[in-house]
Amino acid sequence: DSGDLKVLILENISQQAVNAFKDAGFQVDFNTKAWSEEELVEKIGQYHAIGIRSKTKITSKVLKAASKLLVIGCFCIGTNQVDLETAAKIGIPVFNSPFSNSRSVAELVMSEVIALSRQLVDRANEMRQGTWNKVSKACWEVRGKTLGIVGYGHIGSQLSVLAEAFAMRVLYYDVLNIMPLGNATQVETLEDLLANSDFVTLHVPELPETINMISTPQFEAMKEGAYFINNARGKVVDIPALVEALKSKKLAGAAIDVFPREPGANGAGTFNDQLNSWTTELTSLPNVILTPHIGGSTEEAQRAIGFEVSSALTRYLTYGSTMGAVNFPEVDLRPISADQVSFVRICHVHKNEPGVLKKVNAILGNYNVEKQFSDSKTDIAYLMADISGVSDKDVHDLQTQINQTRSNILTRLLS
Ligand code: NAD
Repeated sequence: DSGDLKVLILENISQQAVNAFKDAGFQVDFNTKAWSEEELVEKIGQYHAIGIRSKTKITSKVLKAASKLLVIGCFCIGTNQVDLETAAKIGIPVFNSPFSNSRSVAELVMSEVIALSRQLVDRANEMRQGTWNKVSKACWEVRGKTLGIVGYGHIGSQLSVLAEAFAMRVLYYDVLNIMPLGNATQVETLEDLLANSDFVTLHVPELPETINMISTPQFEAMKEGAYFINNARGKVVDIPALVEALKSKKLAGAAIDVFPREPGANGAGTFNDQLNSWTTELTSLPNVILTPHIGGSTEEAQRAIGFEVSSALTRYLTYGSTMGAVNFPEVDLRPISADQVSFVRICHVHKNEPGVLKKVNAILGNYNVEKQFSDSKTDIAYLMADISGVSDKDVHDLQTQINQTRSNILTRLLS
């Protein structure tokens, strides 16, 4: 019964999420701060679900104490604050929200395109120092200029539409063949894109093959006086090479939102040479806009994250769907409807071993199995099965028999 399920919310997650859990009938404990490992170990045992952001660390020690925990929601993009492998091994799927802030990033990039083109940040900083410096030399409209998008995924494709509304020409490069939106054109190689773009903007994930993807040869391949924008991941760009390209005036400006190493907390003086040796040099160059990883930082994105992750947790708790889980096989059957009587859904998390399905199906085979779906991911497998025509005693027997199978990790029967 959902009324028996307790959800712990930490780190001031949006009220959108709190309300969604309450609407689903769960009990919710809300906290504005992160909890330490000690605090978690002491109190997590009473909760069935937990919602965190990046500051709460769900370690293997915490998981060991989480005797009732069924699911973890990371109300953010990253999930490395959770021991994903241990969680999977004890049958706990982890959900996050990788794409709720795509629009926010795309809008920030558009603002940077214009700000770089008009040297906006330098002029605004001069005014703050009392300097009136009206210039039009080397300031440009963006209309008719070419925007080169590296990575045409959620963000890159949104940006493509916004840029065309400003009458820019859009080229993109992606390892996949992706259908262009509007009049955008996919190019065959990164070199093609670099040689033909007035603005180059990165929207690829950090992967072994994208680390330092943009370095001296790539800056050299760009047009004279082009602009460079990175809102993707810090390690994708070789920053000392960027500094050289800016100093030599090969580039007319850059906007950088992400860095190879980023401070763990807000505060004066945290972004300094101790963190990244080139910080002072980069901050003293003209027409360089540096921002503290704010691409996705909007009220709208926070609300969307609250909605997306709370929906994923609720779906898992109420009908077992693991679609979108980061550490778990993704399995789904349609929501259970109120008019399904004498019905039970088996949600069986088990070790991914030979012969498991044979054993489980020998148990289920005595009943009317309406639908079944299973999948595996590394050591973990997950089976969902809908069974009709069952009595309360059948449900009890099914639970007992499945719990006794050797590969069982965690089995829930939902109706
Ligand atoms: P996505 O997965 O939707 O799209 C990424 C695209 O890059 C895909 O189309 C993929 O095929 C392509 N790609 C992968 N490897 C490539 C390569 N070697 N060369 C060319 N293309 C390649 O991701 P997204 O949501 O659009 O996010 C893109 C990036 O933006 C990610 O790194 C993400 O972490 C980052 N991001 C930053 C912020 C911020 O606050 N600055 C916010 C959200 C996302």
